[in-house]
Order: sequence, then structure tokens, then C-alpha cells
Amino acid sequence: MDFAFSDRCNEYREKLLAFMDECIYPNESVYHEQLIASGNPHHHPAVMEELKAEARKRGLWNLFQPHEEWGPGLSNLEYAPLAEIMGRSSIASEACNCSAPDTGNMEVLAMFGTHEQKDMWLRPLLDGEIRSAFAMTEPDVASSDATNIAMRIERDGDDYVLNGRKWWITGAMHPNCKVFIVMGKTDPKAPPHRQQSQILVAMSTPGLTVVRALPVFGYVDPEGHVELRFDNCRVPASNIIADEGDGFAISQARLGPGRIHHCMRSIGAAERALELLCKRALSRTTFGKRIAERSNIMDWIAESRIDLEMVRLLTLKTAWMMDNVGNKAAAVEISAIKVAAPNVALRIIDRAMQVHGAGGLSDDWPLAQMYAHQRTLRLADGPDEVHKMTIARRELRRHDPDFRM
Ligand SMILES: Cc1cc2nc3c(=O)[nH]c(=O)nc-3n(C[C@H](O)[C@H](O)[C@H](O)COP(=O)(O)OP(=O)(O)OC[C@H]3O[C@@H](n4cnc5c(N)ncnc54)[C@H](O)[C@@H]3O)c2cc1C
Repeated sequence: MDFAFSDRCNEYREKLLAFMDECIYPNESVYHEQLIASGNPHHHPAVMEELKAEARKRGLWNLFQPHEEWGPGLSNLEYAPLAEIMGRSSIASEACNCSAPDTGNMEVLAMFGTHEQKDMWLRPLLDGEIRSAFAMTEPDVASSDATNIAMRIERDGDDYVLNGRKWWITGAMHPNCKVFIVMGKTDPKAPPHRQQSQILVAMSTPGLTVVRALPVFGYVDPEGHVELRFDNCRVPASNIIADEGDGFAISQARLGPGRIHHCMRSIGAAERALELLCKRALSRTTFGKRIAERSNIMDWIAESRIDLEMVRLLTLKTAWMMDNVGNKAAAVEISAIKVAAPNVALRIIDRAMQVHGAGGLSDDWPLAQMYAHQRTLRLADGPDEVHKMTIARRELRRHDPDFRM
């Protein structure tokens, strides 16, 4: 395996690093101030549209998109270092049109969408004109086992009718969010992995209600994580993605890249936290010594660097495997890095907050917000325990090929 950056990747890295220094970091406080001044936690600050225009002008647009028809066509291995750089700031991914859940939704539409669905939804998503959300999790069932998903999607003439509740649906409070990809049951009598389908539901569809936005540790994220209610929500039958019963197959295709993108961004966030930790430890003195000179702090710094190098290598290996042997063959690696990266990031951000003293918990630094976000990644796209189950099952089957639980 060769993890050296390709020439193309290096070119994008240099351009992206310059964009971060010249546009993203100086505008983080502007974004925050515009958000606060609006009095609406879900306001879309004007500076974001300026950043999007600038990113596009610099050719830093849709970097995640692996299909040349729709974007630069970078491999997972080439995209990994770029996602890491964007992960250093909470506003960079949106500026480059590389935010979850749109990336996964665009990938699904590119792979499975009809011409009509692509014209209607993929094109404006690729152009950054609209945003989207992915609605699977439900308050009434344990959704880490997707076979539990109970939302009904029933055929009625030329339409499908949706009934049920969803929650934690990220992106739905963004003023540009115009469409959901919704997972639900079209055939409760089919074998468990053929019961679910995915269907497009426009935000404006009658019968779809945004009930509330859920806070994360008290933070109200601008894009929102919402509870939704579907009451006899009727959409054209042509909104189904691929065929009835393909919901699981589509999820598998979507989640591999989505999960590894989160991990890449987590590494970027952890790198920034370590940088802040070191600068703070070098600049403050207690009991006659700089904090950086304390052996326990040096131990934290060294452990952080060791952990970061380990998770970066595992991320790159996973990306390489996805590119070379496919997402299915990389399933163990995808699960492993999905557990490892947010946990490493959380440890490093926690140490950085501690070294900042009380200030570390404020919003004068990005650390507290980073911590809250990384903590969600131990649940979103599958809890740690479920990924560990995947890894352990494969390990046990090496010794007992018939192992079942
Ligand atoms: C900030 C945030 C954003 C999210 N965004 C979205 C989104 O956009 N769209 C969407 O559909 N969902 C989203 N989610 C939901 C997320 O994907 C689910 O919360 C997750 O899949 C777990 O489902 P659950 O909450 O129903 O937990 P449950 O399924 O009830 O599980 C609860 C706990 O049980 C334990 N557990 C479960 N299975 C096992 C096992 N096999 N072995 C051991 N322990 C186990 C785990 O500790 C798990 O955390 C988001 C969540 C958060 C926090």
C-alpha cells in the first residue's frame, strides 16, 4: 500500500490550505457574529455564501465527489487529506460543498437516481443551491438495528403515502434544505433486508411537519437535528430510489464513504486541538514553570501525537482498501476507524480543554464545540458498540465459520 499524496492531491492540498488561511479561519468569528446577531440559531450567515463563491472560484468544490461526471473524481485516498484539512473548522466543509449529509445523498443520487431525480435534486445539490437531509432514525424503535425501522411507505395508485416519526435528522433546519431521503418499510412481509426502501420527499410536501430541533449538550447546531412527523404524506411513485426493497443495499453504498469522511474530519479537528494545546501550554506559567514543561502534559502531547498517527494510518489504509478492493471488503476497517477516530479526537480535545483551564470550556476557543460534535460521532452513523460487533463477529468467524448470535 502506498499512502504518498498523488500530484493531484498535493495540488488540491496546497490550494485548500491557502483557502483555510486566507478565508476560513479569518471568517470563523464573522460567521459566529452574524449567526448571533440574527437572533435565530438556524440563520444562514451571509458570509457562508461568500465563502462558497470563493471556494468554487478556486476549484475547491465538491471535492468528495468520486465520479468525474459530477466532480473532480478524487479517490478516497486522495480525498482523505483534504477532508482532514476541512475538519479543522466547523465552517469549511459547507464552504466547499462537502458537508454531511449532502455528500452521502449526492452519492446515492449519482449512483441510483433516475435522470429526472438527478435533474431535480442532484444538480442543485452539486451547485450548492439547496441542502438535503437523510431520515432513518426513529424515536419509537432502536434504530441502530435498521431492520427495526417502522415508518410505513405504502403504494397508493401513482403515489406512495408515508406515515411515521423520525428524529435526529441532521440538516433539516438549514434554510436551504429542500429534500429528504427517507428510509421506511414498503413490505413488512418481505425478508428482513428487503422490507425497507428509500424515497425522496420534498420539504414542502403536505403532511410533513418539523416538530422540533434537538440540542446537542445544549448546543443548537445551525443546520439542526430535528424530529419529523409524516401524516399521510403523499409523494409521486417516481420518487422511489432504485426499487422497492433496495433500502439496505443503498445504505451500504452510502455509509462506507460517509463514515470515513467523518473520521478524516475528526483527525483534522484533533490536530487543531493538539496545536491549541501546545500553544497554550507554552504560553502559560504555573508554580515557576511553563505548563508545557510538566511531565504529565508532555505525556499527553506525546500520547496525542502517537494516537493521531495511528488513526491517520488506519484511515488511509481504509481509504486505500475502499478504492482497491471495495467497500464490502473494507467493512472491518470502516467499522474500526469509525470507532477509533472520534474516540481519539475526544481524548485529545479533552486534554486541550484541560490545558486551557476554564477558558477551554467557553466559546472563546472552538474546543468545547468540537468536543460536543465529536461525541455525537460515537452514535451517529452507528454506535461504537454496533461497529465493534461487526469487527468481533468477523474475528470469531475466523475460528468458527458458522458463528451466529
Ligand atoms: C448529532 C446526531 C446527528 C444524527 N443525524 C442523523 C441523521 O441525519 N439521520 C438519521 O437517520 N439519524 C441520525 N442520527 C441518529 C443516529 O444514527 C442514531 O442515534 C444511532 O444510529 C443509534 O440509534 P438509536 O439512537 O435509536 O440508539 P439505539 O438503537 O436505541 O441504541 C442505544 C444503545 O444501545 C447500545 N447497543 C445497540 N446495539 C448494540 C449491540 N449490538 N451491542 C451492544 N450495545 C448495543 C449502544 O450503546 C447504543 O448507543 C444522529 C444522531 C446524532 C446524535
